[in-house]
Amino acid sequence: MKWNRDVAVVGSGPNGLAAAVTFARAGLHVDVYESQDEIGGGLRTHALFDSDVRHDICSAVHPMAAVSPFFRRFDLSARGVDLLRPEASYAHPLADGRAAVAYQDLDRTCDALGRDGAGWRRLMAPLIGRSAEIGELFLSDFRSVPPSLRTPAMLAWRSLVHGTALATHRFATDEAAALLAGVAAHAVGRLPSIVGGAVSVFLGHLAHSSGWPVPRGGSSEIAAGLAEDIRRHGGQIHTGARITDLAQVRGSRVVMFDTGPKEFSAVAGDRLPAAYRRRLRRFRYGPAAAKVDFLVSEAIPWRNTEVARAATVHLGGSQAQIYRRESGVARGVDAGDPFVLLVDPGVADPDRVRAGKRPVWAYAHVPNGYAADPTGSVTAQIEKYAPGFAETVVAARSTNGVQYEAYNPNYVGGDIGAGALTLGQLLMRPTPRWNPYATPLPGVYLCSASTPPGPGVHGMSGYLAAVSALRREFGIAAPPALGPCPASLRREP
Ligand SMILES: Cc1cc2nc3c(=O)[nH]c(=O)nc-3n(C[C@H](O)[C@H](O)[C@H](O)COP(=O)(O)OP(=O)(O)OC[C@H]3O[C@@H](n4cnc5c(N)ncnc54)[C@H](O)[C@@H]3O)c2cc1C
Repeated sequence: MKWNRDVAVVGSGPNGLAAAVTFARAGLHVDVYESQDEIGGGLRTHALFDSDVRHDICSAVHPMAAVSPFFRRFDLSARGVDLLRPEASYAHPLADGRAAVAYQDLDRTCDALGRDGAGWRRLMAPLIGRSAEIGELFLSDFRSVPPSLRTPAMLAWRSLVHGTALATHRFATDEAAALLAGVAAHAVGRLPSIVGGAVSVFLGHLAHSSGWPVPRGGSSEIAAGLAEDIRRHGGQIHTGARITDLAQVRGSRVVMFDTGPKEFSAVAGDRLPAAYRRRLRRFRYGPAAAKVDFLVSEAIPWRNTEVARAATVHLGGSQAQIYRRESGVARGVDAGDPFVLLVDPGVADPDRVRAGKRPVWAYAHVPNGYAADPTGSVTAQIEKYAPGFAETVVAARSTNGVQYEAYNPNYVGGDIGAGALTLGQLLMRPTPRWNPYATPLPGVYLCSASTPPGPGVHGMSGYLAAVSALRREFGIAAPPALGPCPASLRREP
């Protein structure tokens, strides 16, 4: 076959852009094709109601970008992307006015947790000094043998203890139990579960190490930093360019799909062997997110004022309530009082706030395919912990599960994790293969969040898929340097 290009990347989410950066830095010519008019996938920030106030359309908080091996090598801060850390990474109010807060400072967190402070310290402190190693383990293809088994063993034990019924006995107070359960809910599935336990330990300890930062100006700044590096190294980004047939990009020696298996199957069609298509069809999707973007007139009137120190707030009540809600939603039950994840970026980035205008982002976990307007249920959940919030709302816009899939085909049924986070699907994503990025088609790879290590803004699926393709298709064994070089640092005004 005669190729006239090196690499085509289909989709410009964080993984597509990370793959494109890796190829461009290896000296190859890269074309990125993005169906929307704007790059970024889950990294877009827009003015929605008021030209002065920008809202993150998808991701807003970036604990994984802060610890990701890809982004550490890429060095976001040297590209002018400031990750701003609030003094409290996340907070968890309870209905009676009590609240638990995960401050970036572990000592302060433990002091505030009272009787459970020592238990929280035993859980988190040994992990904090090993954060970079833990980032390498969690944000990997789960196929490499770690240099030492000590850290994996610590993580496995904690995931087991906090991912089974044992979790209900670990803390004496409602506050500490709820604080960890709120983080486990980021796994968006049945709780307790081993994956939920692992997610709570991973994201939970990051709260006290590299933090849960928000990028100054919004998540689109991360996409802009990546795109600039691609262009500086000769890559081209084509927006408004949806790829509907593999033939459109077959002039490239390698094609990377930053898409889920469903979209990939539709684009590759009959070229894929029937058995592989069947396996892709068996890939399962998790619950949906139904989000409301609010423009509010003042700071959120939290009943417990300590909550206002956190940019991220978990609204789901006690550990038992969270487990019940999340397990119900995973079974497809909509009980009407969902777990809500709220982000108030102005807590860390006051420049996002204008007089009388503040962006607030909140989404509910709801069953896959959810088609209703979540504004009422999300507002009611916030009101429970911040009475008077509804009166501060100037404007609101909702996006339910069906609308999320229409916005981005990777979010099937509104599953913003691009595939259910079960233990099997975490390791074998999207199909059981030793190389999860390669497909049966020569030169064609998957690199989205539907491949390991899974959802979140870390760029690692894109980076690992690109490193694999560099080695297999171009004979380039050593991953390229990603750090800023003089060419990458020249930012245009
Ligand atoms: C509401 C919401 C909140 C979130 N919050 C966070 C958060 O705070 N922190 C965090 O770390 N993560 C968060 N996430 C998850 C995170 O955004 C995703 O895991 C991440 O963006 C996945 O990256 P990706 O590159 O795999 O795919 P995506 O970001 O989904 O990008 C895929 C891109 O491919 C394009 N595309 C698809 N098909 C085609 C085609 N056929 N042709 C051309 N282009 C195509 C799409 O338009 C899209 O731009 C959130 C997601 C959502 C939706």
